[in-house]
Amino acid sequence: MANTVIKATPKQIEAMQTAYLSHMSANIPAGAIFAVKKPGLSITAYKSGKVMFQGTAGEREAAKWGTATTPKAKTAKVTTSSLPVGFSSKNVAGSDEVGTGDYFGPMIVSACYVDQAMMPLLKQLGVKDSKAMTDPEICSIAKKIIPVVPHSTLVLPNPKYNELQANGMNQGQMKAILHNRALENVLTKIEPIKPDAILIDQFAEKNTYYRYLAKEPTVVRENVFFATKAEGLHLAVAAASIIARSRFVEAFREMELELGLSIPKGAGARVDQVAADILDSKGEVTLQKYTKWHFANTTKAKNLSRRS
Ligand code: MG
Repeated sequence: MANTVIKATPKQIEAMQTAYLSHMSANIPAGAIFAVKKPGLSITAYKSGKVMFQGTAGEREAAKWGTATTPKAKTAKVTTSSLPVGFSSKNVAGSDEVGTGDYFGPMIVSACYVDQAMMPLLKQLGVKDSKAMTDPEICSIAKKIIPVVPHSTLVLPNPKYNELQANGMNQGQMKAILHNRALENVLTKIEPIKPDAILIDQFAEKNTYYRYLAKEPTVVRENVFFATKAEGLHLAVAAASIIARSRFVEAFREMELELGLSIPKGAGARVDQVAADILDSKGEVTLQKYTKWHFANTTKAKNLSRRS
């Protein structure tokens, strides 16, 4: 059974304690603050701030608390060693996503194909692990590489995300479907060329990933590798990450224009406050259109709202 571990603030842990009050377990493991047992779900919150979600409903439940970006911690060791020697100089199609831990804005997945011949140009244009880059840097590099790199960028708008989520699809499943489709689009674009390998920035175990794709008409399976922090392992994923992030920045700009206020990223306290302001000034239907509605931020914003 997959475990999802998130890092929570003391405030969040307090909120969880309230939310799960009626399901508290009397068996509290060493180092834990509380333990919850429900059918299909157990939750253990530790003094270190780590909260572990287990069971069939674990991943979806963890996502409610807004920081579902960390199953990476668990899979961190799976990877680099299993990549073929000299991987970074192979011809690779890679994919990465953005927006999964942000209350506001869409989920976006981008896939890119980068071959050996393209690498010097991309390096010269500044393509590298984008983690430390600012938004303006990301957008300026993206603008330069979009015309030269075969890519596909898929945007899952909030209304569609909320509909899928309400119908029982978890975030991991949505991610898997988007990664698979974006990669397929790229493979079609570069035909008849075939990449040496495909690298997916890992967000789920390989078996889980393919289980999520069970209903997809076609699934990319040949030479597929999974690795966490993959943007540092091949320029294809680094480029995909930059393009996805630049599209995300654009989406925020569009939202800010439409709503007439500045929208914070992430899922923290500032997000709750801005969401509450939108509730007060524009109402619930509008807020829902721009957010991942199942996140805990919704409840927090409603509590902050003057109308509540
Ligand atoms: Mg990623």
